[in-house]
Amino acid sequence: MSHTIAVIEGDGIGQEVIPAAVDVLESLDLDLEFVEGDAGDAVKEATGEALPQETYDLAADADATLFGAAGETAADVILPLRDAVDSFVNIRPAKAYPGVDAVRPETDLVFLRENTEGVYSGHEDDLSEDLSTLTRVVTTSASEKLAEFACEYVDDGEGFSVVHKANVMRKTDGRFRDAVVRVADEHGVDTDEVLMDAFATRVCLDPEQFDTIVCPNLAGDVLSDLAAGLVGGLGLLPSANIGDDNALFEPVHGTAPDIAGQGVANPMATVLSAAMLLNHLGYSEESDRVETAVETVLAEGPRTADLGGDADTEAVTQAIINEL
Ligand code: ATP
Ligand code: MG
Repeated sequence: MSHTIAVIEGDGIGQEVIPAAVDVLESLDLDLEFVEGDAGDAVKEATGEALPQETYDLAADADATLFGAAGETAADVILPLRDAVDSFVNIRPAKAYPGVDAVRPETDLVFLRENTEGVYSGHEDDLSEDLSTLTRVVTTSASEKLAEFACEYVDDGEGFSVVHKANVMRKTDGRFRDAVVRVADEHGVDTDEVLMDAFATRVCLDPEQFDTIVCPNLAGDVLSDLAAGLVGGLGLLPSANIGDDNALFEPVHGTAPDIAGQGVANPMATVLSAAMLLNHLGYSEESDRVETAVETVLAEGPRTADLGGDADTEAVTQAIINEL
């Protein structure tokens, strides 16, 4: 079956790492059709809009989207794009690859972060000169949906950790916790519960005690960034936003203005995002091959400057393709 992939480079090194990842995907000779759309600072300057309607529609209509990064306009681009693909879960792996300088080289985690509610969809109000408030939104339905996804995501027999703060936020995180644990129980999937503050300490000291972590929106945002610090290397971290009929894949890093335009950005975070895209579309074998090729190149070189090498984006991309 043919799949349509929307490709949105955006700004900065997005324009370097996205073409690299597309080259890797094209080298696999799968039935993928790539359609390109514009978004970001340059588009806003030219047209007044950071995310033109046609780009939004491209992402909404595609089977999956590969997105680079946007600069000043990031929020105006990525928030509507996540909405275009109707994503309810953000997948953030944090895996330390052999040979890469990491604070905790044994780290191998995946965060499944609720992506639609919590404090990010809540209403903020200024009630007086002195007082602002925020309403935190948690629904049973969104929590159950995340849990259903998590149960499918984990391998048979392997459970997941539910990270929350239901001892304090009894109604909101209590609802989240109850829904997630109930769904897991119904699927016969093991769960353990960890309070989010305790999790922050435990994951730093001993990340091996965790595998898959299911958490509300803000906790997932903060804790997955914390885990990113354990594995080292923004240039290696991929992410996915998954919806029912669509999904968007993007590196965790931004536009890296300090190195943009030089052709030296590490393409691996985006290539690993493309591997997640392949897995999502059912090409799990090809996905594994791409990840293995990245691991081999990490071990044997060449490497970009962020990993202590002196190779450019093209040389690393070509080395990955050669491995494939
Ligand atoms: P933005 O506002 O777009 O997020 P930023 O200044 O926060 O930009 P990031 O893209 O988040 O920059 O990157 C932070 C640092 O990590 C920068 O020094 C950047 O050069 C480096 N970096 C990020 N991604 C890569 C990459 N793919 N290859 C090499 N270095 C990278
Ligand atoms: Mg940044």
